[in-house]
Amino acid sequence: MNRYAKSIEKFTEAKEIIPGGVNSPVRAFKSVDRNPVYIDHGIGSKIYDIDGNEYIDYVASWGPLIVGHAHPEVISFVRQTLSKGTGFGTPTELETEMAKLIIEMVPSIEMVRMVNSGTEATMSAIRLARGYTGKSKIIKFEGNYHGHSDSLLIKAGSGVATLGLPDSPGVPEGIAVNTITVPYNDIESVRFAFEKYGEDIAAIIVEPVAGNMGVVPPKPGFLQDLREITDKYEALLIFDEVMTGFRVGPNSAQGLYGVTPDITTLGKIIGGGLPVGAYGGKKEIMAQIAPVGSVYQAGTLSGNPVAMAAGIATLKLLKQPGVYEELARKAKMLAEGLAKNALDLAIPYHINSVGSMVGFFYTGVEVIDYETAKTSDLERFKRVHGYLLDHGIYIAPSQFEALFISTAHTDADINKTIEIHYQALKELVK
Ligand code: PMP
Repeated sequence: MNRYAKSIEKFTEAKEIIPGGVNSPVRAFKSVDRNPVYIDHGIGSKIYDIDGNEYIDYVASWGPLIVGHAHPEVISFVRQTLSKGTGFGTPTELETEMAKLIIEMVPSIEMVRMVNSGTEATMSAIRLARGYTGKSKIIKFEGNYHGHSDSLLIKAGSGVATLGLPDSPGVPEGIAVNTITVPYNDIESVRFAFEKYGEDIAAIIVEPVAGNMGVVPPKPGFLQDLREITDKYEALLIFDEVMTGFRVGPNSAQGLYGVTPDITTLGKIIGGGLPVGAYGGKKEIMAQIAPVGSVYQAGTLSGNPVAMAAGIATLKLLKQPGVYEELARKAKMLAEGLAKNALDLAIPYHINSVGSMVGFFYTGVEVIDYETAKTSDLERFKRVHGYLLDHGIYIAPSQFEALFISTAHTDADINKTIEIHYQALKELVK
């Protein structure tokens, strides 16, 4: 009997009626040539598929589940809120409670607007930056991902700091030309772009720790320099903290690196696993949004009480003392263990880790941007991924994603993961 028989059957059925069988492309396991597993339930650090296989989970629903699956306090507050109804499209007290929590923990945010996804958050932040500055171009970094809105689904043009090209059919060239794409961690390219187009640039949007090309931290001074340049040209600095928000520290990446953006986008963790995004910043800027100002943005389900409940319960758990130290300790333990495996077997590797995000690359090159991230041996990654899956370790089915540690991971989980990873490498280099 195939260990994945039921998942295979369900995926075959789904492919007929859902594009690629999935509601978000990476879930199809295409780059690792595997059948995705259908998850039935999760508890703590583990998830269980419909064939009854157990996995130690490092995907955490792509980041949100920093307190693990089905945390009793999250589930209990969600249940309590849900019993009153699923939503009303009116203001509720929970939205104010959520706003207060975010503002208390992320000092650069003085006002915040809730939306339903990270994509919505970044799309709205860009509109706000353009509305506020009256300028139209934006700068984004190669290998940073900010969701799938037209302005942000842009690849680099040829050469440094040229105008962007659509990264997908359906994105008009007229929109792409307003997005300038430059290499991550390359401050000279940013300077060059401002020298060329400075008058027209509304904002820089950046993942302050990149998590969508594996994990790539900012070089020392990089974020500070972005702050300086945007100030000089009266452009806004947008930190896309959809992934890093409440992940890399209690005050998010901006707290960790001591740089204050004008606008911050959030998602993932603040929804506790339910569909949520948010954008916030200085009062003066946020006051441009309707109904106070004229920059329009709205949402039928925005601030949904059930989603607020999951997020509030999660953020409250993260405020407990020692949480981030413990997360970082476990991430370090995992990173060091994986590194030692590769070292012992003389396999080239590079590891980047910030807070509870870990990125493992099969390359001897230091990974500082998308070009260097792409030097990772993708064939090796694919085979390791398959081995881990078959042995109960669930990591993202792509080299260009982070491993996420949650408060639910135990030292035993991490030791087991390191051990199986060693076996995988050993098996595959034979
Ligand atoms: N920004 C960043 C940094 C992200 O990591 C993601 C999603 N991985 C997004 C934006 C888009 O968020 P969503 O998938 O919720 O639209």
